[in-house]
Amino acid sequence: MRETVRAELEQEFARRRAENERVEAGRRREIAEGYPEIEALIRKREQLVFGTMRKILSRRAEEEDLPERMRELSQEIRRKLVESGLPENYLEPVCRCARCGDTGYVGEPVREMCGCMKEAMQALVRKENGLEVNERESFETFDASILSEELLPGDRISQKQLMLIIRKRCEDWANTYPAGRIRNLLLTGPSGLGKTFLMRSIARRLGERGIDVLLLSAYRMFQTARSAYMTNDEEPEALVGPEVLMIDDLGSEPLMQNVTVEQLFLVVNRRMELGKATVMSTNLQLNEFKQRYTERVASRMTDVVHSCVLTLKGPDLRDRERQA
Ligand SMILES: [Zn+2]
Repeated sequence: MRETVRAELEQEFARRRAENERVEAGRRREIAEGYPEIEALIRKREQLVFGTMRKILSRRAEEEDLPERMRELSQEIRRKLVESGLPENYLEPVCRCARCGDTGYVGEPVREMCGCMKEAMQALVRKENGLEVNERESFETFDASILSEELLPGDRISQKQLMLIIRKRCEDWANTYPAGRIRNLLLTGPSGLGKTFLMRSIARRLGERGIDVLLLSAYRMFQTARSAYMTNDEEPEALVGPEVLMIDDLGSEPLMQNVTVEQLFLVVNRRMELGKATVMSTNLQLNEFKQRYTERVASRMTDVVHSCVLTLKGPDLRDRERQA
């Protein structure tokens, strides 16, 4: 993990803990000011603890039945809270993640990152890549109702039927990867048909399954490849490392003849050698794709054994959304 990401994560979790403390203090104040009966019980519980401690320190008493009496008092406090229309855990420590208490780490003696921090880290990385996967974009929120039911020109199915088939292929793939022989997906079709939505849905599902996925725009992908190239890094770890690399909107990046194509080929080829998956989306038609990135790249992304090409067709969905 990069140092900047680590620092930002630590900050984010410190913010979460500070927010928890603020909420706890607010609730404590609310009780002290508005619920004298409960407040009295809390004080009693405090005195019980301090009183017993004093006795123990001055050796005037054994620990007595402190735990039992504490439990009784706590139970009474919870009962009073509920009677007052508040949740029974209203005065317990507040945290978003019960597993780690918002520290971000779990495990003794080997400390490892809690799931909530891993999730925050993935979100941060996605944000850095300029492709934040937001709540609205997932297979679950996919809305087929905006799709046309008219038959596609020269086709026997409608845009809606086609999209539902493609969506299912994508979802099945994201659910079962790395099982199955298909390593590469190539989503093609004019802009505004939902390719980016599908890309983000795939990335989201893979992420939920704990698979190391990197989704980035073609522009960022070539930036990364170029800076690796500058430092004589033949094999850019950032692009070869992830189990699934997803490149959105290929064809939109500025083409530097030879360099761009060569970099893309090196990445795709190396990933295939390692048995890792590459998913791409492009506005280009297949023959244009071949022309721009050469046969070498195209053949790897379209080879029938390891790859699957999914072509979206139909009217621009953004126009429909605007009309609706
Ligand atoms: Zn956690």
